[in-house]
Amino acid sequence: MNEFVERLVSLRWAEPKKSYDVVIVGGGGHGLATAYYLATRHGITNVAVLERGYIGSGNSGRNTTVIRANYGIPEAVRFYQHSVELYQGLEQETGRGLMHERKGLLWLAHSEMGARAERARAELNTAFGADTVYVERDDILRICPQLDLDGGGVWPVRGGSYHPAAATARHDRVVWAFAEGAMARGVDVAQRTEVTGLKTDRGRVVGVDTPQGPIHAGHVLSAVGGHVTSLVSKVGLRLPIRTHPLQAFVTNHYQRQFHPIVASADLLFYASQTARGEMLIGAEIDRQPSYSYRAGHPFIQHCAHRAMTLLPLLGKLKVLRQWTGVCDMSPDYSPILGESGIDGLYLTTGWGTWGFKAIPAGGEQMARLIAEGETPELIAPFSLDRFARDRTLADRGSSGTH
Ligand SMILES: Cc1cc2nc3c(=O)[nH]c(=O)nc-3n(C[C@H](O)[C@H](O)[C@H](O)COP(=O)(O)OP(=O)(O)OC[C@H]3O[C@@H](n4cnc5c(N)ncnc54)[C@H](O)[C@@H]3O)c2cc1C
Repeated sequence: MNEFVERLVSLRWAEPKKSYDVVIVGGGGHGLATAYYLATRHGITNVAVLERGYIGSGNSGRNTTVIRANYGIPEAVRFYQHSVELYQGLEQETGRGLMHERKGLLWLAHSEMGARAERARAELNTAFGADTVYVERDDILRICPQLDLDGGGVWPVRGGSYHPAAATARHDRVVWAFAEGAMARGVDVAQRTEVTGLKTDRGRVVGVDTPQGPIHAGHVLSAVGGHVTSLVSKVGLRLPIRTHPLQAFVTNHYQRQFHPIVASADLLFYASQTARGEMLIGAEIDRQPSYSYRAGHPFIQHCAHRAMTLLPLLGKLKVLRQWTGVCDMSPDYSPILGESGIDGLYLTTGWGTWGFKAIPAGGEQMARLIAEGETPELIAPFSLDRFARDRTLADRGSSGTH
């Protein structure tokens, strides 16, 4: 947290008390949004958010900020559409400039099969509330004149789907706005406070351990992203989550003319332009599971090569920064949120490479579950027990490159 931020938003850090109604582990977007909605929607403010680093130091401050709802299954389209709508009102709700900008997203197809998949995506999305249309080459060029539709002679663009409501927002501002809004209503947010264990009493989770001592809690929410498996293993819970690194990079400034977000499932990349004019490129997870934050040259080499096939303008730019986050990947590419199966312990995880856009809806719905004790209908399909019930939610539309 730098001096600029300290002046821009008013964040008041707390020394944790000995006991809370709700303890949220992890000060990323999902943990802080849950605290915010507990306070604003349910009047529950005896809440602590415990963050081992600084807030937003996990994936919530490392992502490529794409907000969209054009997912691959009805349950997900409905959920993410709700989140897209909450984002649209978030600047007004929090009173903070979040640099939310509607850009539209073009998903390109390079084969007949790809074109069929994009037609199907458009139909399904629209049917469940997230407007998406199939677009031909002429429309694509109108939306993004910088594209080489011949794909370097190797990956010609056949068509695509266009999702006009897709947007971006400044990721750390979203984190700070939720933190500020929660703190202003009495929630304690403590940085550099690692949760090292979970306390149980007769099979119920009743608190957490920290190096500063134990904290009692009526309810504990794990919102620790890719670190969830080690946290919940302390109470014997095994989750179907694997942690994979995900890298991204930005170039130096390109003239402020690149408006949409562009994605190609075949070429495994997506691109947009930041408010500073940098071209921002994201891709797929590293295949090898790990907690490594190392960012490597092979990634840039392969990803830049593929991206330049469609966007020759990138060839004239330089790579400015590259970074990595570690993603909590579920086997069906859908999140896991709700009750854990252990009394008193709730989970929000499995956000993989797609959880930034879900922050408002995920936080709102988790807050409702904790406050009211009943799983809201919108998130019921994403419960952990879907794996035991053989009701997995395989979603090819989760990742920006699928
Ligand atoms: C390169 C990259 C690009 C991405 N692009 C997009 C995108 O364009 N759109 C999109 O929707 N999503 C995207 N994502 C995914 C998105 O960033 C995440 O899904 C989302 O931020 C998850 O938020 P979270 O709050 O669950 O986790 P995090 O933001 O990771 O927060 C978890 C927090 O828990 C803390 N923590 C961990 N263990 C403990 C402990 N024991 N005690 C206390 N604190 C602990 C961590 O320090 C961290 O701050 C991207 C991710 C990456 C890495």
